[in-house]
Amino acid sequence: MSIANADQPVADDTPQMQHLAPLQPDDAAARPAIRPPALAAIGDDSRRTSGFIGAETGMTRSRRTQNSLYASEERFRSLVETSLFGVCIERAGRPLFVNQAFADIFGYASSDELMALGTLDVLYPLGEPQRLAQACKHLPGGRSPSQHEIRGIRKDGSLIWLHAHSRIVPWDDGTALQSTLIDVTLRKRYEDHLQHQATFDAVTDLPNRSLALDRLVSAIEAARRRASCVYVLFIDVDHFKKINDTLGHTAGDRLLRQLAQRLKASVRQMDTVARLGGDEFVVILGDVRLPDDAAAVAGKIAEACSRPFLLDGQETFVTVSVGAAAFPEDGDDAEDLLRSADAAMYVGKENGRGQVHFFTPELRQRSHDRLRREVALRHALERGELTLHYQPLIEIRTGTVVGAEALLRWCDPEHGNTGSDEFVRLAEDTGLIVPIGEWVLATGCRDLRRWIDAGHDHLGLCVNISARQFRGSLPAAIRSSLDAYRLDPQVLTLEITEGVLTEDPGEFKAMMDRLVADGIRLAVDDFGTGYSSLSYLSRVPLDTLKIDRSYTGGVLGDATRSTLVDALIILAHRLHLRVVAEGVETADQLDFLRIRGCDLAQGYFFSAPLPADDFLQLLDERRTVAAVG
Ligand code: C2E
Ligand code: MG
Ligand code: MG
Repeated sequence: MSIANADQPVADDTPQMQHLAPLQPDDAAARPAIRPPALAAIGDDSRRTSGFIGAETGMTRSRRTQNSLYASEERFRSLVETSLFGVCIERAGRPLFVNQAFADIFGYASSDELMALGTLDVLYPLGEPQRLAQACKHLPGGRSPSQHEIRGIRKDGSLIWLHAHSRIVPWDDGTALQSTLIDVTLRKRYEDHLQHQATFDAVTDLPNRSLALDRLVSAIEAARRRASCVYVLFIDVDHFKKINDTLGHTAGDRLLRQLAQRLKASVRQMDTVARLGGDEFVVILGDVRLPDDAAAVAGKIAEACSRPFLLDGQETFVTVSVGAAAFPEDGDDAEDLLRSADAAMYVGKENGRGQVHFFTPELRQRSHDRLRREVALRHALERGELTLHYQPLIEIRTGTVVGAEALLRWCDPEHGNTGSDEFVRLAEDTGLIVPIGEWVLATGCRDLRRWIDAGHDHLGLCVNISARQFRGSLPAAIRSSLDAYRLDPQVLTLEITEGVLTEDPGEFKAMMDRLVADGIRLAVDDFGTGYSSLSYLSRVPLDTLKIDRSYTGGVLGDATRSTLVDALIILAHRLHLRVVAEGVETADQLDFLRIRGCDLAQGYFFSAPLPADDFLQLLDERRTVAAVG
C-alpha cells in the first residue's frame, strides 16, 4: 500500500515497500484512506523550512520533498504494520499487502509467510471472499467502507469470525480491495451461546417452544407453497410426575433426555423434535404426502417410548399419549395446529393413556363448546348461577351429623343443574377457581352461621380446595370469611387432594403449616386415587383422611379393596388421623366400616348433597328423631 502522494513515484529501492504499489498524484480517490495526516506533516515541514526555499535549487527542493514524503510514508507504514487491526489489500484473491496483525489473526508467523501463499483462498470458506467483494463492488473508493461479518480459516484449520471494513481503492492502473479486520470469534461464540440458550431447552438440548413455533410457521409456509401437509404430533408422558416423585428430579431429567433421543431417532433429519416444557414434546413433520405416513411415525414414537428406560440402573417403563393434527385440515396457523394436536392428545389421555389420537372435526366442536362454557362460567358467579349443596358428615359411632361438606353446583341456563366434577376442572384450568373458591368459603361460612344460630352449634364445615388456590391469597380469604360470620378457625376443614400434597411440597407445605397454626384442619380427599408415595402423610400436618368412594364401594365384593380399607384405617389411626369413608351407599358398607373402627361416613345412604335450607331441615329432623329416640 502506498502512502505517498508525491510528484515522483517513491523510489522502488525501499525494501519494505515491496508489496505496495505507488499511487498516482491525481489519484484523489485514494487519498482519504492514507493521506491526510501525511500531508499535514509535509505542510508543517515545508513551513518550518520556508526560509531556505529561495536559496534552494529546483533539484534540492525536489529532493527535500521526496525525503519528506519518504519520512511521512515511513510513519504511515509503521502505523499500518504495527496496528492491532489486520490490514489486507488484495486483488482477485491475491494478496498485495498484509500487515502482521492480519497474519496473527490467521495464525501465520509473519506477514511474509502469509504473502508467500500467493492466494487468500485458503483463508476463507468457499464463497465468503466473493460475498465481500460483491458487497464492495458498488462502493467507490473514498466513501465509507462496507462492513461485514465473515468467517475465516486459521492456519490450524479452526474457524474464526471476523468483522471487516472493506472498500475498493485504486491500485496501480486498476483497483484493489482494502480490508481492515478484527477477530470477533469470542463475541460471536458468546452471542451464539445466548441465542442457543434462548431457543433451546436446557435439559434435553432440543428446540424450545419459541423455536418450535418458528419452525412450525416455516413448515406451514413451505407446505402452502408446495400444496403439501404438515403434521404436528403432541406428545405427553403419562404419569411423569410419578417418576419425579418416586425417583427424584435428576432421574426425571435423565428420562426426558433419553426420551428426546428416542423421539429424534424416530423421525427424519428434516423433522423437528422440540420440548414445550415439563413432559410435553412436539414433533413437526414437514412435507407429508399421506396421513398414513404421519400415523406410521406416531406409532413408531409410541413404540420407541414404550421400551424400558434405564434410570439409575433400574428399568423404568413409561407410556406416552400422542395427539396428531394436520395442516391445513386441523389448523390454519401454528398456534391453532398446536392446540388441535393438544386436544387430540387429551382424548388419548381420557381414553386410558398410551394412545395415538388424530384430531377430528368432532374434537373441534368439543373445543368450541369448551370455550363457550368457559365464557359462561366466567359469568356464572356474577349472575348468581352458582350454589352450594351440603352433604352431611356422620359420626359412625353415634350416628350424629357432625358437619357438612360444601359441594358446588352450577345452574347453567343452557345445561341445567350440573355436578361439580366437570366444571370444577374447567374452573381450575382457567384460574376461575380462585374467585369461585373465595365465594364458596364465604357462602359456606354464611350458611354455617345460620345453622349454628338455629341451634346446631356443634357443626363443622368442609370445603374443597384446589391446588390453584394454594397459589393465591388463601389464608386472607379464609380469615375474612371466618371473621365476617364470627366463626372459630376450628370449625373449618380444608379438603385437598393428594395431587396438592405432592405437586410442590415445598411451596404448599409452608402455607399448610401456616393454616394449621391458625387453627384450621386439613383433610386429604379421595385418598387412594393418586399415585404418590405415602410419605407425605407424616410430613404434612393433616387432621383427616378421606377414603375415596371407589374403595368404599368395593369393600364388600372385592377382597383386595376390603383389605386395603382395613389397612388404611389402621395406618391413619397410627398417624393420629381421623378417617372418613366417602360414598357410603348401603347399610352393609356402614357395618363393615363400623367394625373396622372408621370414624366418620358420608354418602347417599345418609343423604345426597342438599341445598342449604334442606340441609337445615335435615338437621332439625335428625335432632327431633334423636330427642324422641
Ligand atoms: P369430593 O370432594 O370427593 O366430593 C364428593 C363427591 O362424591 C361429590 O360429587 C358427591 O356428590 C359425591 N357423592 C357423595 N356421596 C356419594 C355416594 O354415596 N355415591 C356416589 N357415587 N357419589 C357420592 P360432586 O359434588 O360432583 O363433586 C365432585 C368433586 O368436585 C368433589 O369431589 C370435589 O373434588 C370437587 N368439588 C366440589 N365442590 C368443590 C369446590 O367448592 N371447590 C373445589 N375446588 N372442588 C370442588
Ligand atoms: Mg371433598
Ligand atoms: Mg372425595
